[in-house]
Amino acid sequence: MRSDYMKTVKRIVVKVGSSSLTHDNGLINIHQLEDLVKQLADLHNKGYEVILVSSGAIAAGIGKLNLTSRPTDLFLLQATAAVGQVALIHLYQKLFSEYGIIVAQLLLTKEDLEDEKRLYYTKHVTESLIEKKVIQIVNENDAVAVDEIKFGDNDTLSARVAKYAHADLLILLSDIDGLYTKNPNNFEDAELIEEVKSVASVKHLAGDSHSSVGTGGMITKLEAATIANDSGVHMVIANSKTPWVIKSITEGKGVGTLFVRKE
Ligand code: ADP
Repeated sequence: MRSDYMKTVKRIVVKVGSSSLTHDNGLINIHQLEDLVKQLADLHNKGYEVILVSSGAIAAGIGKLNLTSRPTDLFLLQATAAVGQVALIHLYQKLFSEYGIIVAQLLLTKEDLEDEKRLYYTKHVTESLIEKKVIQIVNENDAVAVDEIKFGDNDTLSARVAKYAHADLLILLSDIDGLYTKNPNNFEDAELIEEVKSVASVKHLAGDSHSSVGTGGMITKLEAATIANDSGVHMVIANSKTPWVIKSITEGKGVGTLFVRKE
């Protein structure tokens, strides 16, 4: 039962994808961002320990630099991420402060989680922030991360964060209600799957992203599920546009797709 799984949940990592934070023109969707902050603030006030993994830096940078599309030149892309990351954090800080919540920014590269010593420091800073009741906002350090040190997508990054932080639950908020039997953007008869006990058995159902801002589609979300479930973390994929979606998930209601952790 969903509600049984959710009873013991205290530490939650929430990842929100670019497609949930941006309009079709690529600019930041302020309404969605405000709604997300309101839900996380409520979760925090209920006593949950919340870590946010947020995409959207490049989208915010495109807006700030008045670019018409995502840059193809690598250095301009990194510069756009650098500009956008501060703009995004500024917005988060402004919105969370309305609820009296302090935020922190944690920019990670793959090396920070793969090198034993760096992982040790990363883990401890995360714990200190949680202890101080700060909501940490994590992102890949896109301004300096090039291919060989890149996670490439925030789905697997968020699963690795959930693993090292010993979270109980990882929530991936996307532009889709969960994992379907096939990509619902291409097939009308696709059906939503409510619960998955073995990620390996559904891997073949995942396709890539149809949106211009989404990166990994369902493929990277199922990779995240493998990392999370193998590390004892439940994972839910749900639609960021469903009202009070995070509250519904933590109350054990049947929204999205639940990937049950391995015991
Ligand atoms: P985000 O930016 O939230 O990470 P993505 O666009 O990367 O979102 O991933 C979600 C997309 O994955 C969906 O909108 C859909 O087009 C695609 N997709 C591919 N296969 C499936 C599937 N089996 N079930 C649901 N969505 C799928």
